[in-house]
Amino acid sequence: TMITNHLPTAELQALDAAHHMHPFTAGNALGAKGARVITRAQGVFLTDSEGNEIIDGMAGLWCVNIGYGRQEMAEVAARQVKELSYYNTFFQTTHVPAIALAAKIAELAPGDLNHVFYACSGSEANDTNIRMVRQYWALKGKPEKHILISRRNGYHGSTMGGGSLGGMKPMHEQGGLPIPGIVHIGQPHWYAEGGDMTPEDFGLLRARELEAKIKELGPETVAAFIGEPIQGAGGVIVPPSTYWPEIQRICDEYGILLIADEVITGFGRTGNWFGSQTFGIRPHIVTIAKGLSSGYAPIGGSIVCDEVAEVIGRDEFNHGYTYSGHPLSAALALENLRILSEEKVVDHVRDVAHPHLAAKWAQLADHPMVGEARLVGLMGSIALSPDKTRRAAFAAEEGTVGLITRERCFANNLVMRHVGDRMIIAPPLVITPAEIDLLIERAWVSLDEAA
Ligand code: PLP
Repeated sequence: TMITNHLPTAELQALDAAHHMHPFTAGNALGAKGARVITRAQGVFLTDSEGNEIIDGMAGLWCVNIGYGRQEMAEVAARQVKELSYYNTFFQTTHVPAIALAAKIAELAPGDLNHVFYACSGSEANDTNIRMVRQYWALKGKPEKHILISRRNGYHGSTMGGGSLGGMKPMHEQGGLPIPGIVHIGQPHWYAEGGDMTPEDFGLLRARELEAKIKELGPETVAAFIGEPIQGAGGVIVPPSTYWPEIQRICDEYGILLIADEVITGFGRTGNWFGSQTFGIRPHIVTIAKGLSSGYAPIGGSIVCDEVAEVIGRDEFNHGYTYSGHPLSAALALENLRILSEEKVVDHVRDVAHPHLAAKWAQLADHPMVGEARLVGLMGSIALSPDKTRRAAFAAEEGTVGLITRERCFANNLVMRHVGDRMIIAPPLVITPAEIDLLIERAWVSLDEAA
C-alpha cells in the first residue's frame, strides 16, 4: 500500500519507528510512544494526523519566519524547477538565483558585509567559517593563527565542525568532539551563573574571559571568536548589555576576526534584520540559514566582509558543496526576502513584540513556577523555578520540570520547546496579536497543569 496521510496514525508511527532514525531523539523510546505525525501547516498552525490544530510557538526549528504554506513560494518553486532545476557554481559558472540572492543579502546586511558563500545549512556554513578564517590568516602569512574561541552552551550546528564550535556538553560526549583548535569560554548567562553580581558586571566578567583566553593562548595563535547574538538552543539567553561591546573591543584590540552566528537571529527575529544590529556588533562574518528561506528549502551561508572576501579570493578556496547556492533554494530564499521586505515583517516584529507580546510575556513571570521571563523581538524564554526570589533551580533532575511542561504544552496543542528548565518560544514572525493571545493562553494552562 502507498504510504500517505490517509493511513491510520498508528500505522504511520509504526513505520516511522521501524525505518526512520530521528535527530536528537532516543529512537527506541520513540518506538513505544510514537512520534506525532504532522500532515499540513498554514500560517502559524500545524495540523496533525488526528486533525488537531497546533499553534507553532517555535516556527518549526526557529526557521519559518513568514509562516507556512505561502502560495507565492509554491509558485516560485514550480517556476524555478521548470526553468533551471540545478546547476553548480564551482568552475566559472553561475546562475541568476544565486546572483540575485547574494546581491539582496549584501543590500540587507550592515556595513561592508557584501559577499556570500553559500551552504545548505547553518552547520555547513559554520564548517565553512572554520576553514575560511584559517585560510584567511594563512593567506596573510600567519598560518599559526588557527584557533577559534566560542562559548560553553553555545550552539553552532551538529557536524564535526559545528558541533565542535558549539559548547554543548552532551554533544561533546559523543563522536569525538571537539576537533582540535577550538576552545571554549564561559557563557553570559547571568540568571544561572551570575550569583550576586549585577548583570552588567557579570557581562563584563564573561566577556573578559575572551581577553584572558587570548592572552593565555597568545594572540598570534587565535583566528576568530564566534558567538550567537542571543544564544538560542542554549535556552534563549539574552546577554547583559555590557557583554557584546566588550567582546567587540577585545576582538578589535587583539586583531581577532568576529563571527556572529545569526542562524536564528538573522532575518527579523530580534526586531532588526540582523541581531548584530540589535546588539551593536560589527562582525567580519555572519552565519545565516533558517529564516533566510523560512525553511521552504535548505539553504545557509556566510556573509563575508570586503577585507576577508578580498583575501580569500587571492587563491583557490578548496571548499564548497554540490548544492552551494542551489537554484531552487536560492529562488525561494529570494522570494522569502521579498515577502519579508514588502510586507514589512521586521517592523511587524517590533509592533507585536512591544507592547503586546512583551506585556503578556512579562506577566508569565508572575506564575508561581516562573523565575524570569525574557524577550527580544519574537524570541523569548522563561526560567522555571521553585523559588523566584533566589533564581533557584528545581531539585528534580535538571530539565525534568521543563520536559513535563513541554509535554503539557504539546498536549494542549502548543509547540513550546524546553532547554533544561527553560521554556522557549520563537513563533513565525507573521504571528498576529490574536494568535499571540492564544499562544499565551495555552502556555498558562500548561504551566498550571505542570505545577
Ligand atoms: N547555528 C545556530 C545559532 C543554530 O541555532 C543552528 C541550528 O539551530 C545552527 C547553527 C545549525 O544549523 P542547521 O541545523 O541548519 O545545520
